[in-house]
Amino acid sequence: MDIEKLIIKTIRDYDLIKKSDKVIVALSGGKDSVSVLYILKKLGYNVEGLMIDLKIGKWSEVHLENMMKFCKENDVSLTVVDLKEEIGQGMGAIRDVLSEEKGMTGCSVCGIVKRWLLNRWARKMGGDVLVTGHNLDDESQNVLMNFLKGNVYLGANLAPATGGGVKSMDGFVQRVKPLFFVPEDEIKKYSEIKKFDILHNACPHAFDTYRVNTRKWMVDFMTNKEKLAVVEGFMKISSKLKGDDRELKRCEKCGEVSRGRICKACEIFSYL
Ligand code: AMP
Ligand code: ZN
Repeated sequence: MDIEKLIIKTIRDYDLIKKSDKVIVALSGGKDSVSVLYILKKLGYNVEGLMIDLKIGKWSEVHLENMMKFCKENDVSLTVVDLKEEIGQGMGAIRDVLSEEKGMTGCSVCGIVKRWLLNRWARKMGGDVLVTGHNLDDESQNVLMNFLKGNVYLGANLAPATGGGVKSMDGFVQRVKPLFFVPEDEIKKYSEIKKFDILHNACPHAFDTYRVNTRKWMVDFMTNKEKLAVVEGFMKISSKLKGDDRELKRCEKCGEVSRGRICKACEIFSYL
């Protein structure tokens, strides 16, 4: 199935986006988020781009330039959030402090900070849904990584719409993944056919992490059919798993939805 048809089917089967929704697309500058923005716009959705400028040197500068150009050419408005203005530091410095103080990996720190900012800004922009470019490879990697680390419960409620019970809480913008069933190599092909002017280099911070290494062996050993089998097979049991069942509340510092008294992002900010 071509990827546009697969996206339409995923949106319909999982009721991800309504035509009346204001759709905020989280744009990293990579092929996945650019393709999903392009396709949703083509399908007539009311889309806007949201990009966090992570301030990772030249790599971030090129992504930012590309996205400004891409959004202009495709008549999509783009909101850029400057990490230094928001948090006072770029991702390099944040990563170093948290690695030193808490032994956290750069990718997990970056993921938490990005999620926090994306939700806040999607809400500020009046978004009904927040689209990310996560694809079938990302999702099957998550299932396998959780399994290999003995953290299977982290995959509870695996689905193209994330958030589970959080959805019902005021101030939380529903996150959706229209590329959930689309293999990465298909998106790569699509972005090449469309000749998107984008940077293909991976984040300069992401080397030798668990995810990067898992991705390497998956590319070598797993077919797309097997990736789909891993995800679909796990989805059948994931709704029955008991995940993190701590009650959802508001973070005492920032007011965002949190499992603990203080959210993970504020915990990170407390070290800066
Ligand atoms: P990653 O965590 O880098 O694999 O990215 C997964 C998805 O998160 C991307 O497809 C984007 O939708 C979103 N994303 C990642 N980085 C950014 C960013 N700097 N600004 C906005 N969205 C992002
Ligand atoms: Zn907080």
